[in-house]
Amino acid sequence: MAVSNPARPENSTLRPVRAPRRPRGEGQWALGHHEPLNANERIKKDDDPLNVRARIENIYAHQGFASIDPQDLRGRFRWWGLYTQRKAGIDGGRTAVLEPHELEDEFFMLRVRIDGGQLSVAQLRVVAEISREFARDTADLTDRQNIQYHWIRVEDMPEIWRRLESVGLQTTEACGDCPRIVLGSPVAGVARSELIDPTPAIDEIVRRYVGDKQYANLPRKFKSSISWLVDTPYETNDIALLGVEHPEHGPGFDLWVGGGLSTNPMLAQRLGVWVPLHEVPDVWAGVVGIFRDYGYRRLRHRARLKFLVADWGVAKFREVLEQEYLGRALLDGPSAELPATQIDHIGVHEQRDGRNYVGAAAVVGRVSGSQLARLADAAEAHGSDRIRLTPYQKLLVLDVPSDRTESLVEALHGIGLSARPSAWRRGAMACTGLEFCKLAIVETKARGAELVTRLEERLRDFDADITIHLNGCPNACARTQVADIGLRGQLVVGPDGRQVEGFQVHLGGGLGMAQDRAAGFGRKPRGLKVTATELPEYVERLARRFLAGRRSGE
Ligand code: SF4
Repeated sequence: MAVSNPARPENSTLRPVRAPRRPRGEGQWALGHHEPLNANERIKKDDDPLNVRARIENIYAHQGFASIDPQDLRGRFRWWGLYTQRKAGIDGGRTAVLEPHELEDEFFMLRVRIDGGQLSVAQLRVVAEISREFARDTADLTDRQNIQYHWIRVEDMPEIWRRLESVGLQTTEACGDCPRIVLGSPVAGVARSELIDPTPAIDEIVRRYVGDKQYANLPRKFKSSISWLVDTPYETNDIALLGVEHPEHGPGFDLWVGGGLSTNPMLAQRLGVWVPLHEVPDVWAGVVGIFRDYGYRRLRHRARLKFLVADWGVAKFREVLEQEYLGRALLDGPSAELPATQIDHIGVHEQRDGRNYVGAAAVVGRVSGSQLARLADAAEAHGSDRIRLTPYQKLLVLDVPSDRTESLVEALHGIGLSARPSAWRRGAMACTGLEFCKLAIVETKARGAELVTRLEERLRDFDADITIHLNGCPNACARTQVADIGLRGQLVVGPDGRQVEGFQVHLGGGLGMAQDRAAGFGRKPRGLKVTATELPEYVERLARRFLAGRRSGE
């Protein structure tokens, strides 16, 4: 029987009045939105991820892989640079359907953060020794100036940390929802055209904030770049500081925020301020503080700083930074002068002190510990104590006397590192891919090496600069959208109608062009996809068409 409401006339069309719902928010702490938590936020709330190091050293290293708490294994381990690696033999078609524990084996990928890409010969020797002893001779050069090992056992981590830390290296916050490695110019301190070396600011940021629990629980990863020159992919970072000269105040840095690629790519935006060198660490911490407090935590795919910057706009971002985090206004600044292309530093170049640096390429960043040990010997034999890694999976040897450069170029060639690489080898990068990455759909490293070899055979004299970036899935770790030819791994339909490994093709992307924002990301011509088998032929055809149609000087 229906019960009538005495407060409402029988024939009323009014709906019952509900209490107004509190806006759900996006998980911004500063606005009081602490619930509901997603699984990643829960892990961070239950225990500070930095605490897991003690458990690794005191428990897991002694009791082995099976003793590891799953929340530590797939969550907090990342804060110490550790990810489980993909089990061998699982094809890309099963990536999305298997449970995490079915995809992973008992070995880890370990990232060593090399902030600013700066290594001494002694540090390089330790990196190489760890590779040979504990990582089956793996030591990939990543496009974020890290060294990445594979095949690491949890039992070996205490000894690996002991050796790394004995030479001032660390894996702290090399992965995870925290400030990752700070990218820097590989020629900081030696470049002829550099007016300020930002290395002291990078060192200060690492000293003050890496490992500080106040900055170790961010909505997601936070990527930084600080460089005088345009030789890092600054537009793709959460924060970037680029060298600029102020007409009255002199050299300082132009601040950009909110860049990031992945599945929702956005280029960083200029805040229009000028930051002197000594203020860089405070300003950096202010931007990280905004991300920590106002960043979106509810949905993982919205949890990068770029979404907040896109919603607020740069004027509001600057106002909050100045008023709530710095307590003072920043000076307006001029825009940095941006060249049309990035500088990769390959070849022999004179330093400001008259000595030289030599930049060389491995193929798609793949090197072994044995190669790195020989590199350390070669650098030392040519009077150098300084190695630099680049954000393009390449490396440099600094401080080489002029009469020793040719001898070093030859020695590097003997190690498989070319200071005079073909355009193909010079411009190729590949992410980790199916060999070790649990998110991968296609193989990348071996395929990238095969592609380079084939193009070198068929188009040896190709003389234009060209970048080809191979990515094993849509996450764009090797920066799909900003290459001349960007390749995004996915399954595609093969000639016999079955699904096979392949790539969606992006054409005409580039870096160093953020002022012309439309020019930054490659286009996807009519959803063009190629199978992995067709790839070398496709790139060759594209290159030949370019050569046939290019104008003089292009
Ligand atoms: Fe793994 Fe995808 Fe990143 Fe490649 S792009 S390393 S496959 S997550």
